[in-house]
Amino acid sequence: MTDSTTAIDVTGLRKSYGKREVLRGVTFKVYEGEIYGIVGPNGAGKTTTLRILSGIILTYSGKAEIYGLKPSEARAKGLISYMPEDSFPYERMTGLENLQFFARLYAKGDKKLEEEYVERGIRIAGLGEKIYDLASTYSRGMKRRLVIARALMVNPKIAILDEPTTALDVESSVKVRETIKEAAKNGTTVLLSSHYMLEVDYLCDRISLISSGKTVDEGTPSEIKAKYSAKNLEEAFLKAISNA
Ligand code: ATP
Repeated sequence: MTDSTTAIDVTGLRKSYGKREVLRGVTFKVYEGEIYGIVGPNGAGKTTTLRILSGIILTYSGKAEIYGLKPSEARAKGLISYMPEDSFPYERMTGLENLQFFARLYAKGDKKLEEEYVERGIRIAGLGEKIYDLASTYSRGMKRRLVIARALMVNPKIAILDEPTTALDVESSVKVRETIKEAAKNGTTVLLSSHYMLEVDYLCDRISLISSGKTVDEGTPSEIKAKYSAKNLEEAFLKAISNA
């Protein structure tokens, strides 16, 4: 992958809340076109890392760059689309109205672009006729597909998705994973977080294992499993943190 363009470069990233250091050296690189997973247990620092890279948390130390820019600059240039873990649609709007609302914001007056975004959003959400129903009537899986469609319809250079399949049933998770793969095929670089190791094994080209605010290993799922002679990533993760 050495010839690939670096989309995201994180080196020695640190973040404290008061005296508590919650990131203590997160380091990884994401190459253009990859689906990259930040994997670790609850409280490991995944959301904090993604919030820094999305330009939401502005105070940190270490390097966090998106195409050589600070995350806040990359966000201002429209390079990043971020889906927070607790992202929900507006319940009093239909699915379609939700997409139209955000398409208008992103298209900045370009009507043709706005329509293109909405059209793509409808296709990504895959809700059929239910796209005309109020979002308040949607199941959790349908809501998640709508907010992922909202994040991906603008064909962002980089999509940052925090726990995109958490709390979804198998069928909805499969659909969300297909959507993410499709976005990557269409040229979006995807950075996602998950604590579901088996899923990232299937979905991600490369992953970072993170524990207690520190990167403990990085590589393709196969490389990491081979390195720790593990049957699956869960086993590899446990071996990696016991060695760290
Ligand atoms: P989860 O899988 O549960 O979402 P995570 O890996 O995303 O966890 P973070 O949400 O980044 O972890 O949290 C890392 C640590 O930072 C946790 O111990 C959390 O309590 C702490 N933390 C996060 N946000 C704040 C905040 N605003 N103030 C103080 N501590 C915080």
